[in-house]
Amino acid sequence: MSENIMRIIDLRGQKLSRAELLAAMPRAAMGTSEATDLVRPILDDVKERGAAALRDFEEKFDHVRPKNLRVPAEAIADALTTLDPEVRAAIEESVRRARAVAKNQVPKDFHTDLAPGARVAERWIPIQRVGLYVPGGKAVYPSSVIMNAVPAQAAGVESLAIATPPARDNAEGLPNKTILATCAILGVDEVYAVGGAQAIAMFAYGAKGSEPQDGDVLCDPVDKITGPGNIFVATAKSLVSAFVGIDAVAGPTEIGIIADKTANPSLLAADLIGQAEHDELAGSVLFTDSPELAEKVQENLNYRVPKTEHAERVHTSLSGTQSAIVLTDGLDQSIDAANAYAAEHLEIQTEDADAVVKRIKNAGAIFRGPYSPVPLGDYMSGSNHVLPTGGTARFAAGLGVHTFMKPVEVIEYDEEGLKALAARINAFAVSEDLPAHGECVLSRFVKDPYDKATLREQEIEAGLR
Ligand code: NAD
Repeated sequence: MSENIMRIIDLRGQKLSRAELLAAMPRAAMGTSEATDLVRPILDDVKERGAAALRDFEEKFDHVRPKNLRVPAEAIADALTTLDPEVRAAIEESVRRARAVAKNQVPKDFHTDLAPGARVAERWIPIQRVGLYVPGGKAVYPSSVIMNAVPAQAAGVESLAIATPPARDNAEGLPNKTILATCAILGVDEVYAVGGAQAIAMFAYGAKGSEPQDGDVLCDPVDKITGPGNIFVATAKSLVSAFVGIDAVAGPTEIGIIADKTANPSLLAADLIGQAEHDELAGSVLFTDSPELAEKVQENLNYRVPKTEHAERVHTSLSGTQSAIVLTDGLDQSIDAANAYAAEHLEIQTEDADAVVKRIKNAGAIFRGPYSPVPLGDYMSGSNHVLPTGGTARFAAGLGVHTFMKPVEVIEYDEEGLKALAARINAFAVSEDLPAHGECVLSRFVKDPYDKATLREQEIEAGLR
């Protein structure tokens, strides 16, 4: 086994407590605290100097000083005209499917009638202005434009801005052309060639212009920031989250796979490698009760990893402590362990996949069966690929229309509805030593709520008792 790429975590024969099971799961360290010292001055500088600071940081970190921090409309339109038709077709298919799902996701307003004249309604209101971060450092992610913008648009967000780093090969400091073309397809025209923590600062504080082409205000502040990014982006998001909404602080990407002896080991190996390709820190974890399957997966990895394009990155990721094959006593323990791991992406490759799906409590998204691999969801299943990482799927959901809306309760009581509760509200208010609360309600029905000596009679006379 020594030449095998992935380590084994053997849970067989162990009765672990909840805490022990959580601790046994492989996990990458987030390490945002180390980045905090680096990111805080970036945020402060952008807040203070706006576009001038943004240009300085772009020069420092992305090695280009963009003339136009806001991408001109012609550049967005041009990018679409020069887009490869096959790529265009793929993007359009992805958008079509994402829009179809998002349309069904829009939450419905509803109301509850509690008594005559007593109604509580719930209205879902779109967030007014959002900033979408699209990563673009090591790789480019036009798919992330779709995953962020489509649900925001379906939610009815009025104002939507995108920030993404300038492309490495663009002397003018424009972002990657496929990203711009995707913005054009989606009808997004407010795009900034700004990356990293400085982009998050721009969204959070807004930014005044520093050159004539910027105008007085380069970018207005947003109400919520969404989208994935590297450690600097994640740290900046968590620092500004005290006063602006964020979706989540995303860590390295992960896959969990629950497989039994019926699964195809070469497909499992392909799926583990596919996830590991993202990042050296990506986590790939296989939960199986079949040691024979585990051995075959290792053999497949030994064959496939050296052949794949990004072999070194994949090897580092699969051999890292954040990746493992978890051997279990049976399907029950595999499911318990997968629920403890709470994978960002969870594939189910078992004999009765539907039965397993029903028992999953924690996962960012569940990929059921051999024909629902994770890259399908990365690009065009119609589902969203911005998902909770690092075990946060225990309490958090992936991006969706709900991310861009907020429920607001509307209290609709009339005279009859309030009258029926007035004496009880007063009793509650007095018990909390907040008598003016009670007097506020009583004032609507009795002459003098401050005359405590006659209050009971006044209440009876007014029909409150
Ligand atoms: P990025 O856009 O997140 O970061 C690039 C920016 O980082 C640069 O513009 C630069 O300003 C800044 N930066 C670089 N070095 C810096 C330094 N030393 N100090 C301060 N700032 C610095 O792109 P990336 O780096 O390629 O990372 C993208 C991440 O997003 C990856 O981890 C990837 O896995 C993840 N991702 C996740 C999803 C998802 O849905 N979960 C989708 C796509 C990408």
